Amino acid sequence: MRKILPIFSRKLSHVCNLKPYKETKWLMPIGNPTGLYVYNCVAEQKVPVILNDPHIATWYSCGPTVYDSAHLGHASCYVKLDIVQRILKTFLNIKLVTAMGVTDIDDKIIRKGLNTNTDYRTVAKQYEHEFWLDMAKLNVEKPMIITRVSDHISSIESFVKTLLDNQQAYATNDGTVYFDTSKFPYYGKLQKMQDSSEPISKHKRNNMDFALWKGHKPDEPYWTTSWGKGRPGWHIECSAMVSKVFGSQIDFHAGGIDLLFPHHENEEAQSCAYHNKRQWANYWIHVGHLHVKGDVKMSKSLKNTVSIPTLLETYSADTFRMACLMSNYRYPMEFTDEVMKTAEEVLNKFKFFLKDAYVYVNNNATQSADYADTMLDILWREEEANLEALKADFDTATCINSLLFLISSTHKIIKADTAEFYPVPIVLIADYITNFLTKLGLKLQDTSEQSISNSLIDTLVEFRHSVRTNALGKKDKELLSACDVVRDKMKSLKVQINDSNKTASWVFTK
Ligand SMILES: [Zn+2]
Repeated sequence: MRKILPIFSRKLSHVCNLKPYKETKWLMPIGNPTGLYVYNCVAEQKVPVILNDPHIATWYSCGPTVYDSAHLGHASCYVKLDIVQRILKTFLNIKLVTAMGVTDIDDKIIRKGLNTNTDYRTVAKQYEHEFWLDMAKLNVEKPMIITRVSDHISSIESFVKTLLDNQQAYATNDGTVYFDTSKFPYYGKLQKMQDSSEPISKHKRNNMDFALWKGHKPDEPYWTTSWGKGRPGWHIECSAMVSKVFGSQIDFHAGGIDLLFPHHENEEAQSCAYHNKRQWANYWIHVGHLHVKGDVKMSKSLKNTVSIPTLLETYSADTFRMACLMSNYRYPMEFTDEVMKTAEEVLNKFKFFLKDAYVYVNNNATQSADYADTMLDILWREEEANLEALKADFDTATCINSLLFLISSTHKIIKADTAEFYPVPIVLIADYITNFLTKLGLKLQDTSEQSISNSLIDTLVEFRHSVRTNALGKKDKELLSACDVVRDKMKSLKVQINDSNKTASWVFTK
């Protein structure tokens, strides 16, 4: 079992602005500091990430309720969580054990089954299958462990039974079991404002009490327990499944910001009560909402959703991921054509740079090379600064900005019409950028079925470049305008050509 100490019980002279312990309900774990700081809603500030084992961390994400197709709100949440997980694994060398809960028993799934005359299990299976396909298209890594409510009924039942036996919960006449929030003194630690979104019921002892188990209603699936027939409530499932997989403590617990209250508050309360602890999840990771124009949240209830296949008809998964990287995980993200076009342009700048760097180091081999220590110094500083930014609550937006600055200054050297030749630093910079972006889950490379068309486009672009260079030399306006027509036609086919005196490069814009 892991020990935890109140914050400030150890010396942390390098940590600024931490509130004194009495003002926060967060307890700092004892163990090995990772150098990483994350925002924690219990502490209401960034706190140091300390792990029991310096190289192992457990992670649970609340997954989808599988009653309908996923939309871009889900996509941004899971892509951003995927980015955070990749940072932990690849930049901080933490072996992350990931689990995700899938809610496959729920009011909405049962209702959909009844409305469509389909077994609720079939409804859940169909949408769960679709969810994983969508995630794969977005290059979101599948969790190592998938827990489904339907597979964990007995763990959930015994969790509820323990809380009943310990008198931290009570059963009512209709078979519903409520958690008694008055028995957990830290209820409300995740969110100060306790605005009850729980249904009012005459059976409840306190307003904030929430259902652990729902009493049986006609036409609904049920399981028989010692306190009556019924089915699990929503909040209890994650606590029971996490405890089954990870035991009495978890390092990271993640989900969309809308889950903070009441879902995560209730998970924390019932898990602390069950495990007799003051803190169950050490680090809460909450992803900001996806907004459409006008600061409106994208959600099923507002009927303003865009499906993942619809997104991918217009923009690539890489472009969507770049938009996520540029907005940082914790902040709301706006989904507009403008935002997506900017993300696409940024992505293309990187792709152009990588192609130009490749052409540069391979085309100038006859000139004498220089090692250029200054350029290498800039690269080392960049690497260090980016790692620090990632350690400061996964600040990917700062990293992207700083990489853009790096490629723009390097591009000037590549495009300069001088005899100086710096293949070593240029190769190292290109390699660093490729590694950095692919570690964050961008693919950058073209898919295999595109390889033939890529060769054809290469040939056409090279040919056009020779023609254009000749035409420029001879000031042949007719030929130049023919070259422009080719460039525009290619653009309409989603191939963008970038001309320069030395070379021409191209990228797919989708
Ligand atoms: Zn959950």
